[in-house]
Amino acid sequence: MPKRPDEADLTGTTPRRRPKPDVMAIANRRLSPSTLMMGLGYDPKLSEGSLKPPVFLTSTFAFESAAAGKRHFEGITGKRPGGAEGLVYSRFNGPNQEILEDRLGIWEDAEDALVFSSGMSAIATVLLANVRQGDVVIHSGPLYAATETLINRVLGRFGVTFLDFPAGAGRAELDAILAQGKARAMGAGRVAMIYLESPANPTNALVDIELVREASDAAFGRGDYAPPIAIDNTFLGPLWQRPLCHGADIVIYSLTKYAGGHSDLVAGGILGDKKWMDPIRTMRNTIGTICDPNTAWMLLRSLETLEIRMQRAGENAEKVCAYLRDHPKVDGLGYLGFLKDKSQKDIFDRHCTGAGSTFSLFIKGGEAESFAFLDALKIAKLAVSLGGTETLASHPAAMTHLSVPDARKAALGITDNLVRVSIGIEDPDDLIADFEQALEAV
Ligand SMILES: *Cc1c(COP(=O)(O)O)cnc(C)c1O
Repeated sequence: MPKRPDEADLTGTTPRRRPKPDVMAIANRRLSPSTLMMGLGYDPKLSEGSLKPPVFLTSTFAFESAAAGKRHFEGITGKRPGGAEGLVYSRFNGPNQEILEDRLGIWEDAEDALVFSSGMSAIATVLLANVRQGDVVIHSGPLYAATETLINRVLGRFGVTFLDFPAGAGRAELDAILAQGKARAMGAGRVAMIYLESPANPTNALVDIELVREASDAAFGRGDYAPPIAIDNTFLGPLWQRPLCHGADIVIYSLTKYAGGHSDLVAGGILGDKKWMDPIRTMRNTIGTICDPNTAWMLLRSLETLEIRMQRAGENAEKVCAYLRDHPKVDGLGYLGFLKDKSQKDIFDRHCTGAGSTFSLFIKGGEAESFAFLDALKIAKLAVSLGGTETLASHPAAMTHLSVPDARKAALGITDNLVRVSIGIEDPDDLIADFEQALEAV
């Protein structure tokens, strides 16, 4: 949280975005994220002793002096690097959003974090901050449908092209696509970004982030012309996969999912080194994609229980999948805990610390059998989205991926007997009883 006017430091030292180390440790013991979520970045003394931060509903902030106002604007406009030292106007920043950013960054030890009004507004902002006419975006496939539309169609209107590779691609395939991107960009622009999503939706295919890093370093080096590697980590982060440790530069979230975790808000987040975050912040300041104070407050509430929610959902999913695995009416499971493919298992072992709670369930039969199953569920709700406290189930071919052409659906394995499940934190035996009776209705 920014300093109050009476303690504002206007002497010209670089502003601190990352919390001081002494807040994060007791003696030599580094405090864990779960502990830090209860207080980091907020001092009750500055808000009448209120244990929880108030929701700061204001569109603008009073400057302590004209000189301070000038200095804050130097930070906002990028005249002085590092962002604003104080609060200026609610399209740029606010106390609730800044506390949230401090806490969000903790989970992945990120130097900086930014929050957004939705996962898609975060993705749009990172793309707008990085691509120019003539540039090429190289991405893994499949991507979240709206992200694919944004990269493949909307950016195309501004002279940006793309190349994609399958999520599980090996080194030779990556080298070939990067060389192709480089050749295409030559003269016209640059390879502006390498954009990943892992696991991919709805296939759960994993991207080898370390391998993409190695291939990118070999193709572009590590200097100023190296494109950032960005990854949408919505499905496993921040608990089960930490891409910054595996060579990614920018981590993107739909905070609507596990981070929000109660299916009651829409928000996004981006984490990474200041070097990558500063232009994204400047773009956010320009187009106003920051999340509102109330949503930020709700997310602060959610982050306090993030670890226990995700742990419980992960344990529940493991139990439910163990039950479903051998059921006679089940044709297969796309669950990261039961990977058979050797190279995918290898990526999982190196990158992931848990299998998550979102998986694909293949029912024996087709659309009719899947619909019968979905309609018979009593505890699990029939809805798209994931990562909430409640269990959700949906039918991608008829819902989220309805508009995907049949050939592409077939290539991605989006079949008529595929049911997408996001397991919540209910009693696991109750969930198993629900799945059991719903399969009887098939
Ligand atoms: C939901 C989702 C998004 C989009 O997030 P919104 O908060 O709905 O804008 C992006 N990527 C993935 C992987 C998602 O699941």
